Amino acid sequence: MKIDFTKNADGLVPAIIQDAKTKNVLMLGYMNQEALDATQATKKVTFFSRSKKRLWTKGEESGNYLELVSIKNDCDQDSLLVTTNPVGPTCHKGTDTCWAEENIQGYGFLSTLEKIITSRKEDTENTDSYITSLFKKGINKIAQKVGEEAVETVIEAKDDNADLFLNESADLLFHYLILLQAKGYQLNDIVEVLKNRH
Ligand code: AMP
Ligand code: ZN
Ligand code: ZN
Ligand code: ZN
Repeated sequence: MKIDFTKNADGLVPAIIQDAKTKNVLMLGYMNQEALDATQATKKVTFFSRSKKRLWTKGEESGNYLELVSIKNDCDQDSLLVTTNPVGPTCHKGTDTCWAEENIQGYGFLSTLEKIITSRKEDTENTDSYITSLFKKGINKIAQKVGEEAVETVIEAKDDNADLFLNESADLLFHYLILLQAKGYQLNDIVEVLKNRH
């Protein structure tokens, strides 16, 4: 990887930060040689902050680090493409990306859960994961689980044990999110259908 830090008088080059998994562009920062070295040495993306006027490891206060996957220079060696695995939301405003329109954190904890489900779906080697084992059993089995949890929820709805009703409802929602992903969809696809009916 070759980069020319002398092109800009301040010795900084723009670094585009991309999510290695989703390919979303997460943020833009600037690096000097020192920041690039620190990023490669620590495997945590480190910029030169123009406002702080010092090296800034993204996540140093919030814990929302960007774990380094790869770094590439562009065609004329004056900008960087850095792919990362983000730990938590990248933007300090709490969204996944600094361009929040397509914010996939939009459903709060449910979005976090959806991401965990996605990673378990991809991690086919993970023999400890219940979610992974469900994906391996296939759509019919997952759909059957949704049916069972729905029936259990209906049964508890007729009773007045709040705890049981809430737990069966949670089971239902959890397995429903898995079914959506088994079919290649996300919660947002269903929300869009609902919005269009409105
Ligand atoms: P952090 O590096 O996540 O611990 O955040 C420390 C500070 O850096 C925040 O209070 C913001 O001022 C700034 N900051 C964090 N993330 C971003 C970002 N994605 N874009 C711009 N500034 C940020
Ligand atoms: Zn360029
Ligand atoms: Zn931001
Ligand atoms: Zn249940």
